Amino acid sequence: MKSKAYTLTLDQVEGELSSLGNSIDTAGLVLNLIYRSRHKSFEQFTQLSKKASEHFQNNFGYELPKVIRRQDSTDGTVKLLLGLEDGESVESVLLPFYKKYTLCVSSQVGCAMNCKFCFTATQGFKRNLKAHEIIGQVMKAKEILKEMGEKRDIANVVFMGQGEPLHNFDALKEAIHILTEPKGLGLGKRSITVSTSGYLPGLERFEELGGVNLALSLHSTRDDVRSKLIPINNRYPLDSVLEQINRLKRHERQTVEYEYLLINDLNDSKDDAKDLARVLMERTHMINIIPFNPFPGSIFERPKPERVEEFKQWLVEEGARVMVRKTKGDDILAACGQLKS
Ligand code: SF4
Repeated sequence: MKSKAYTLTLDQVEGELSSLGNSIDTAGLVLNLIYRSRHKSFEQFTQLSKKASEHFQNNFGYELPKVIRRQDSTDGTVKLLLGLEDGESVESVLLPFYKKYTLCVSSQVGCAMNCKFCFTATQGFKRNLKAHEIIGQVMKAKEILKEMGEKRDIANVVFMGQGEPLHNFDALKEAIHILTEPKGLGLGKRSITVSTSGYLPGLERFEELGGVNLALSLHSTRDDVRSKLIPINNRYPLDSVLEQINRLKRHERQTVEYEYLLINDLNDSKDDAKDLARVLMERTHMINIIPFNPFPGSIFERPKPERVEEFKQWLVEEGARVMVRKTKGDDILAACGQLKS
């Protein structure tokens, strides 16, 4: 399988066309055909000369990843287990929201961060995904939507699937470049969110991503509790992570969300809420409360709905901006922290 076409950028297509002695005027069209049409072969691109189409086919021919398993939730969420070229697999999740879909993509096979609340962590780290494997998830999900007869398209891509995206920075950066190419997939920077456990070396490079949204898995303001949940907090404590986020240059409408996984009897007290509000009040913030999603063998419990509401109210009383994320796809283990190959 050759999937390199999913890494082609406008500049590269122009370079290829001009090295073949072709006008670069068709570069945008080629890119459009690769990323937006259902063509499976460059030979079907009648706008290209025979020589150019053969060159692209031989060097950049592509196929979509195979769906190993598809699960449909009662709430419309679709979870895909996608087979990669080397026999590994990753999961992507399509989440319907009103007039659009959000696609949650994976950035690694497994994950090295070993977060204690996460199903992915139980499989360990296997390898980084390449950019074309990230884009392949988007392309395959688009095809599935078409097969479903769905008129709604993918309007948002969130890097919240398997893996720590900032731990695979170069492929992440390349994938975002491709996702936002106007003549290709054409997503806006603010339609993309990168979620991190607080991997500081990646946060130090975050501005290279050009203004995509950031989500930090915060989960506790206390280093002892946070380190238990997210072991990497031992190496990069919360203060250093928040200081680095402070240093980031903010683009217009670029958001930073603070995700707070609410776990029964661990981080759901009134004092936890007050501390959380105190730490975030001085910064532009949005707190996203995610009631814990259990998975087979998990040691934590989901708080009762009344406690989730109470926790939210405590934050509101402190003046914090907060929302509770509605759990989607938990009946098929597609909710946050429940993905595993
Ligand atoms: S929560 Fe994210 S960073 Fe942590 S182990 Fe799971 S996939 Fe990795």
